[in-house]
Amino acid sequence: MKIYNLLVRLCLVCLIYGILLDCVMPNSVKKTSELDIKDINIRDMNPENKNIFPKELIEFMEIINKEIKYFPVAYSAKREFVEYVNSWGYERNYGGNRIHEGTDIMGIINERGIYPVVSVSDGVVEEVGWLELGGYRIGIRSEGGIYYYYAHLYSYNKGIEKGKKVRAGELIGYMGDSGYSKVEGTVGNFDVHLHFGIYVDTDEYGQLSINPYYFLKSIENNRIKYNY
Ligand SMILES: [Zn+2]
Repeated sequence: MKIYNLLVRLCLVCLIYGILLDCVMPNSVKKTSELDIKDINIRDMNPENKNIFPKELIEFMEIINKEIKYFPVAYSAKREFVEYVNSWGYERNYGGNRIHEGTDIMGIINERGIYPVVSVSDGVVEEVGWLELGGYRIGIRSEGGIYYYYAHLYSYNKGIEKGKKVRAGELIGYMGDSGYSKVEGTVGNFDVHLHFGIYVDTDEYGQLSINPYYFLKSIENNRIKYNY
């Protein structure tokens, strides 16, 4: 009888603990290997396959996990850092109705040119320059073939140009608020942030984007330290 009582109490404690845990962490972070179809954007998806996660992507996700080493914003003990939520899929209206294909990393200090942006992986600069949506952006192609996209920058680091090799953690530019205009150099249409995106080229679906949020979570404490 005593043991039975003990067991009942134990179960109750576990139950309460479980409920508490659920309240404290309602959105526990998915592992990157648990991404599902909602975390990728496929434009030419055959509606019949709408709920099938493309197998080709599993390999890409493993590559991303292996090659991303540093959080894309460098840290300084002197400054308030950045914050971000899972903003994948949020509605965007500039440039037509579309969904948000990336993660916005917001500067707590809403001042352009303060936060250093670093490359998450080794790679080669494939694109640099103005985009109507992305403003001053940099696209880096990794050895694994993944395209990492850094948008709305304030400025580029010296020497950043097409074909330049970069290392993981290398300074590529500074966070800003450029973009949302056909006029190069337009700033101030939104708060200072880094838009970070991940794109892969698949045989079956062409280029598609993957939700970077869970990958960012996995490297969020691997920060390069800078004095700023
Ligand atoms: Zn964004």
